[in-house]
Amino acid sequence: STGPTTQHRRVLLAAPRGYCAGVDRAVVAVEKALEHYGAPVYVRKEIVHNKHVVATLSERGAIFVEDTDEVPEGARVVFSAHGVSPAVREAATVRRLETIDATCPLVTKVHREAVRFARDDFDILLIGHTGHEEVEGTAGEAPEHIQVVNSPDDVDQVTVRDPDKVVWISQTTLSVDETMETVRRLRDKFPTLQDPPSDDICYATQNRQVAVKKLAPEADLVIVVGSANSSNSVRLVEVALEAGARASHRIDRAAEIDPAWLDGVTTVGVTSGASVPEILVQDVLAYLAERGYGDVEEVRTATEDLMFSLPRELRADLGSGE
Ligand code: SF4
Repeated sequence: STGPTTQHRRVLLAAPRGYCAGVDRAVVAVEKALEHYGAPVYVRKEIVHNKHVVATLSERGAIFVEDTDEVPEGARVVFSAHGVSPAVREAATVRRLETIDATCPLVTKVHREAVRFARDDFDILLIGHTGHEEVEGTAGEAPEHIQVVNSPDDVDQVTVRDPDKVVWISQTTLSVDETMETVRRLRDKFPTLQDPPSDDICYATQNRQVAVKKLAPEADLVIVVGSANSSNSVRLVEVALEAGARASHRIDRAAEIDPAWLDGVTTVGVTSGASVPEILVQDVLAYLAERGYGDVEEVRTATEDLMFSLPRELRADLGSGE
């Protein structure tokens, strides 16, 4: 084979990448709320884990708060795509807040599973990252039944009441492969471990991992656009490296690319997390084109057409046609 100097510089652009249906819905919900009710509109936590999105909505009058006690009594607050626990809903009711629930329906689905298995008195092992908002919300549905399992290595520490009545569920944005490894170890320990009724890792997370896996073996460098607190974006870096990318970096925006990363690089893979607006990817492609990587080939592994309707409370206030 020929050396990198004689090879043609190119970009392999992953598809699907970027916005998923749940993020799109949550961002549009805040935009519509600002248009319809006027600023300010409060948002509990980052609506989605992306710096650019949060900054843009802040400029337009959204006020991001850590919790409902920072929202003035009676004001309007949007719950983020990651979901909230019943305790947060109660606190909002006590403060007479007007709530708009932008929880992704695929997160709500996991909440329902948690409630059902808790009602049937299972020990529920929630595979996910302690401290992530989604995990806090899901665990809050049944704190006395749920324990969080962070990684395969966590399995040794797990103890349950009845080893024959255990089910696992998961955060929606994990690495599929690592999660399957955790499940394998859990099943070694609890052979009758029940699976959730359907995949908890969502379609968008899975599709973005499949796409990056396909291009990674050919890539000298994989650039993942996404924020540091975006679970699915951070996973894409790990998955790219596992799948054979020689290097991979996560960046919030093109300006964070270190030109040294491109030394000796022929093929650059590019993808973005589910919370990332496409404009940020286009900026990265423009940056790369200026440095000789103008040939962009899309690597598509799936087509997505899922869309969710806006949160119920908003649809009611906006009237028909929305
Ligand atoms: Fe919903 Fe998945 Fe998007 Fe999260 S990443 S908002 S679970 S579709």
